[in-house]
Amino acid sequence: MNLLGLHHITAMASDPRANYDFYTRVLGLRFVKKSVNQDDPGTYHLYYGDNTGSPGSAITFFPWPGLRPGRPGHGQAYATAFSIPAASVAFWSDRLAKLGAKTEPVTTRFGDQVLTVFDPDGLRIELVATAEPDARQPAPSQDVPPVHAIRGFHSSTLGLTDAKATADVLTRTMGYRLVAEEGPRTRYTVAAGGPGSYVDLLTDPALPRGLNGAGTIHHVAFRTPDDASQVQAHSEIVRSGLHISPVIDRAYFKSIYYREPAGILFEIATDQPGFAIDEPVESLGTKLGLPPHLEPHRAEIEAALPPLSGF
Ligand code: ZN
Repeated sequence: MNLLGLHHITAMASDPRANYDFYTRVLGLRFVKKSVNQDDPGTYHLYYGDNTGSPGSAITFFPWPGLRPGRPGHGQAYATAFSIPAASVAFWSDRLAKLGAKTEPVTTRFGDQVLTVFDPDGLRIELVATAEPDARQPAPSQDVPPVHAIRGFHSSTLGLTDAKATADVLTRTMGYRLVAEEGPRTRYTVAAGGPGSYVDLLTDPALPRGLNGAGTIHHVAFRTPDDASQVQAHSEIVRSGLHISPVIDRAYFKSIYYREPAGILFEIATDQPGFAIDEPVESLGTKLGLPPHLEPHRAEIEAALPPLSGF
């Protein structure tokens, strides 16, 4: 299977404006696409990433106002890690403290320092200060100097009570390989490896069963280069015995969805065409992006969505 690493990670939130403020102002990501949930066009689908929302940089949210909090646990993607430069932990610790963000003390994982911060809905975000080379260009930000800025994803940690079946899907079907083990955590990578490729399996029988809701991850998407490699991946998932969706055109990429054995929703998404398909790179995130079938309802959809700026 031709996978290149993480593509995007999608989570649930309860307040679109608080979500927008945290990911753009506090974390310094670029708001790259304002769209709607295609299954529920009265709610937003918000995308944050690097300057163009490159595959491997984009965290996205379905913010349902008033959504009840979920419970992080097993059978879920438990934590989402971004890559920051090795010398940037002090910058981020100071910044997050000044802005009043909830954090946990810095820990060490596979030799890298990890600073955990919780978004307004309690979603666990980790900043991994990695010594590994990461040449990805950060998003431009008014507040976060480029030397300290988030480079893109580092890893996704999956919460499990038993990692074997999930590890088998990663290694036997998806082309991942084991690269490191530390206590209850095993790390897998794919293709060229490095930050943005990693999936960590965290085995903890004490974890509660994860419940969907605000502050939890909805699904983890993996990169595949193009339509042909996606069709091939689809066949391989079918051959492995897992149930998988047909190809769905999400406008900015095409997607296929399946659940790995622990119940975590995976997606394989194409690198092309990307977020500049319906607005120029310079003004990404300013125009509400709608799929063609919703375009006739643009005026009423726009009128029903809350404004995101104006704090
Ligand atoms: Zn997705």
